[in-house]
Formats: sequence, C-alpha cells, structure tokens
Amino acid sequence: MAQSKRCYYEVLQVTRTVEFEEIKKSYRKLAVKHHPDKNPGDPTAEERFRELAEAYDILSDPEKRAAYDRYGHAAFQGGMGGGGMHDPFDLFREMFGAAGGGGGIFDHFFGGGGGGDNGRGSDLRYDLQITLEEAFSGCEKEIELRKLDACGTCEGTGAAKGAKVSTCSLCKGRGQVVASRGFFQVAQPCPQCRGEGRTIDKPCRDCRGEGRAEKTSRIKLTIPAGIDEGSRLRSSGGGEAGVRGGGKGDLYVVIHLKEHPVFSREGTDLHCTVPIPFVTAALGGEIEVPSLSGPVKMKVPAGTQGGSDFRLKGHGMPRLQSVAKGDLHVRLEVEVPTKLDENQRKALEAFAELCGDHNTPIHRSFSERIKDLFA
Ligand SMILES: [Zn+2]
Ligand SMILES: [Zn+2]
Repeated sequence: MAQSKRCYYEVLQVTRTVEFEEIKKSYRKLAVKHHPDKNPGDPTAEERFRELAEAYDILSDPEKRAAYDRYGHAAFQGGMGGGGMHDPFDLFREMFGAAGGGGGIFDHFFGGGGGGDNGRGSDLRYDLQITLEEAFSGCEKEIELRKLDACGTCEGTGAAKGAKVSTCSLCKGRGQVVASRGFFQVAQPCPQCRGEGRTIDKPCRDCRGEGRAEKTSRIKLTIPAGIDEGSRLRSSGGGEAGVRGGGKGDLYVVIHLKEHPVFSREGTDLHCTVPIPFVTAALGGEIEVPSLSGPVKMKVPAGTQGGSDFRLKGHGMPRLQSVAKGDLHVRLEVEVPTKLDENQRKALEAFAELCGDHNTPIHRSFSERIKDLFA
C-alpha cells in the first residue's frame, strides 16, 4: 500500500537547507505552471498540483518540516498529514489572493522580488500588442485592467467609520512574533494583525477590512521607440494595492509585436522583399522602396539578378535610448512580364535573337557543369 512518494524538497525543487521564503517562491512558481486550468487535457497536472500543495503544506510549517526532516514521509502516516491539510485549490487561491477568479489569476506576475514585502500588493502582468510602426516611433498607450485598488469607502485603511484602532495584543504593536524553527529564532509577521501592529474593532463593510476592492483602472504607458517583442516595461506601483494600505505591487507590461505585412524584424534590422520589372533589373535604374519613415530611393545596378540583397544603412529600427538605427535589407524579386501582346512578343523574340551566350553567363556555366555530369 505504501506508494513510493517523491521527496517534498524534490517536489518543490529546493534544497533541504533553504529558507521559508524560497519554499514559498518555488511553490508559487510551480503551482502556476501545473495548475490544472492551465494544463487542460493533461491528467497528470492535477496530480502534480496536489503533490505541490502537500509538499508546501508540510515544508511551510516549521513543526511539520522538522518532523519530515527527521522521519521522512513516515512522520505523517496514520493520517496526521491529512488532518488540517489545505485543499490544493484553496491553498492556491490563498497564496495568490485572487479575488475574482475567472482565469485572471494567471495575470499575476511572479518576477524576482519576494521576501520582506508583507502586506504588499501583488505584481501584475499585462500583455500588450502593438504594431511595428508604433514600436518604430514609440507611442503612448492607455490600458484598462481590473485589479485590487484601495477601497474607496475606507480609503484603504480597512476601518469602518468611527472604528477604534488599537494596538495588537499579541505582538504589542511590533508587528512581529518570534518563533523557533529548529535551533533558530525567527521573526515572523504577527498572525493576529498580519504584521501591522494594530487591530481594528469595526472593519469596513465594503472591503471586509481588507482595505482594497477590485476596480477597473486605466493606466497610461509610454512605449519607447525601438522596443522589441518580449520587452518588459515596469510601472512602479501599477500593481495591486496592499492589504490595509500596504505598499502597491508593480505592473509589468509585456510587449508583443503584431506581424507586419511588409517588414520582418531581426533586432534593429528590418527585412523586406521588393519586386522589380525584369527590364529594370536588366537596364538598371532607380526604384522606391518602403521604409517605416516613408519611401526611400534606391539604385538598382544594371544586370541585377533576382534574389539579390541590398542594405540601406540606417533605415531599420531605432536602437533603444539612442539615435542610432539598424539597417533595412531589401531583397529584389525580378518579375517576368505575363500576358504579352503580339508586338511585345515580337520585340522579345527579336531581342532573343540578338542575345549571345555572353549575355547569360550563369546559364552558360551551368550548362557546362551538367555537360560534365553526363559525359
Ligand atoms: Zn474598505
Ligand atoms: Zn500583532
């Protein structure tokens, strides 16, 4: 009956000596990755998700962790581990403070940070799609998002009108309590006042004392010229409000570029293909090629072959925070005329008669090569 259970440290991908903050960070990261909602059709996702919750449940509790370190999984046989164990989905919601649900949960962003930010609001992530033109010249954008902001009724304090605010009886206003963890004494946020050092007798009804409520906010963003796919802009304080006036999280805006019908981008360089008539390719001439700052004149040398690449210096994308620009690479495609009328056909036939082998050296050398091949 005893199934081989994976080591909890292994499940959470942390070492045995790691601090609590690391365990929490790792759980948050992995729980998002393995959340069944995020892995539809993968039957093992839920199992992994439950495994993570169980491992977190044990390792986040100093007593249970100590027991696990000594006795391994045997410490929790006979149901002790099950008693008081979190439902994995409840735990997830608790960890992410998700108010509304509905998929918005994955908008939370777990970049670096972490540690010592008790009561601070979550960081948020917003994916923004812009055009290549907007990335070229830079732009202003206004985005709209639902997030937890300071409650309007209590202005973020969490206290109802006329509520009495008193010093927390458990931590005596210090906001921290000292707990023993193995040999160490560790200061932890006070569970009664959640680290604030004070308690409120009548919490605000609208936010149930949290000091924050979900609202739609509009945020103005300045997108710098030259921004590329996957770039992250940080709007300091643009994330969620903290609990009862705790610090605001940050908003990370991740930039995505829409596909462009003419240009493709590679760093600061742009690429495009321009068709030219075969007469222009033969005789040479000046053509206009598109660029993101308007048409650019380009010389086509006489005798240009299809597929030739030309580089127009400084007509690519701007470098971030610089006046320098990348290059525009133009590939010429030679268009052979179709639907010839009688006169045109005759003119071309006359032209063909005037042509000798020396007019088509590529064709000639190829003919010679295949001649050797079949000799
Ligand atoms: Zn309120
Ligand atoms: Zn307290």
